[in-house]
Amino acid sequence: MKTDIHPEYPAIAVTCSCGNKFETRSTYGKALAIDVCNECHPFYTGKQKTLDTGGRVQKFADRFGAFGKVTPKA
Ligand SMILES: [Zn+2]
Repeated sequence: MKTDIHPEYPAIAVTCSCGNKFETRSTYGKALAIDVCNECHPFYTGKQKTLDTGGRVQKFADRFGAFGKVTPKA
């Protein structure tokens, strides 16, 4: 390797929001926190999941869930 032209490339710890931790090397140089990794991304897990942040899906269902339902009239 040519001297003095290559950046520092140290090993860093990566922590995912799912709790998974692994090590990699990066010129970033410090610990990294990521949102999604190969352990929890649906592409790799093969599982579909709905990210229900703050009950938004439930809120939508509460407001519009009644649409399309036929209510019998007496
Ligand atoms: Zn993850």
